[in-house]
Amino acid sequence: MVKATITRAACEALDAADPLARFRERFELPAGVIYLDGNSLGALPKGVAERVADLVRRQWGERLIRSWNEAGWWNLPRAVGAKIAPIVGAAADEVVAGDGTSANIFKALAAALALNPGRRAILAEAGSFPTDLYVAAGLAEFMGGKELRLIGPGEGELAAALAAGDVAAVILSQVDYRTGVLRDMGAETALIHKAGALVIWDLCHSAGALPIDLAGAQADFAVGCTYKYLNAGPGAPSFSFAAKRHHATMTQPIRGWHGHARPFDFSAAYEPAAGVSRMLSGSQPVLALAALDAALELWPEVDLRALRAKSLALTEIFMGLTAEAGFTVITPREAARRGSQVSLRHPDGYPMVQALIERGVIGDFRAPDILRFGFAPLYLRHVDAYDAAAALADIVKTGAWKEPRYSLRQSVT
Ligand SMILES: *Cc1c(COP(=O)(O)O)cnc(C)c1O
Repeated sequence: MVKATITRAACEALDAADPLARFRERFELPAGVIYLDGNSLGALPKGVAERVADLVRRQWGERLIRSWNEAGWWNLPRAVGAKIAPIVGAAADEVVAGDGTSANIFKALAAALALNPGRRAILAEAGSFPTDLYVAAGLAEFMGGKELRLIGPGEGELAAALAAGDVAAVILSQVDYRTGVLRDMGAETALIHKAGALVIWDLCHSAGALPIDLAGAQADFAVGCTYKYLNAGPGAPSFSFAAKRHHATMTQPIRGWHGHARPFDFSAAYEPAAGVSRMLSGSQPVLALAALDAALELWPEVDLRALRAKSLALTEIFMGLTAEAGFTVITPREAARRGSQVSLRHPDGYPMVQALIERGVIGDFRAPDILRFGFAPLYLRHVDAYDAAAALADIVKTGAWKEPRYSLRQSVT
């Protein structure tokens, strides 16, 4: 339960006892900023800048093309995938890193449809992050004879839509980007399988935010971002998971040479690589993959259960205080149903977020009226949750957000 009146002193005590407190030093955090947007662009881990500089100056500048072998550039998608695997509950050879999230959603959906050819529908949530819907609709239209069907957030809507009997694949976000609602991956995967469909889990807002058990859930495919809670930098490559049981039979249509069994045969005929490598297409952004690789370095030390416990504590503090300040909290108060963010609803949310940013508390705004705050447990303290809520309450109390300049819309909100 949310404590009605948590004090700042109580938050300081939680920080003093925090088993994850030491990770804050592993990030380059600007002074005077409380960063609650790590669910959109994670903070910069120490070591990433040096790694990228070494790649540019030495590996590229001095060693030139030899680095594809020497520095392991060729194998980075697999090596990095293997490092992401334990964070999402997968085996090392079930995850590959490369390409963007939208491209990987296309490939995973296409692979699922090809494994389930007799059925016509893709199912997705109407409130999904739009790119998921655009890609799914685009794929259905491109293939012909397929259709995208949307379900609402209501309980039972997934089961009702599956009952149609012609659903080939379902794409679901484990954590909703707008509301922070956490889905029950195990139960919903079982429901989808029982209806004869395959599932693609979108882990953009859960990878690095909470423990994930793709293996335990028997998920078919999954895709996730690495520039959010995995802190790999703007536009960093995505990752793709495919369950081992599908490896031998799965195919995807963007058959680039990096997904070929023997790329340096330069054969005219495509023969897919064994395993998850066949999800790859062409050459990957090596600079960005190296940044991701360096950002992943601290994860083997992270106890994911402690991460989850801290995430819940941070969001609970912030929800309790902002509810007291009169905000409508749309993120579920029940721990089992929320990810690592808090979303508030207010018609004047946009200028409020701008006023908050000017005070050094960085959150974001999602149309039409949602103030969104992400809580990255590796670098945030309990006092940050307290101070951020206090700053927001003050902005409302004083009406500071009403200054006209806060209402000017920028291109990224
Ligand atoms: C952030 C996010 C994306 C981003 O896709 P890109 O191709 O990396 O721009 C996709 N889906 C969800 C659910 C997201 O939260």
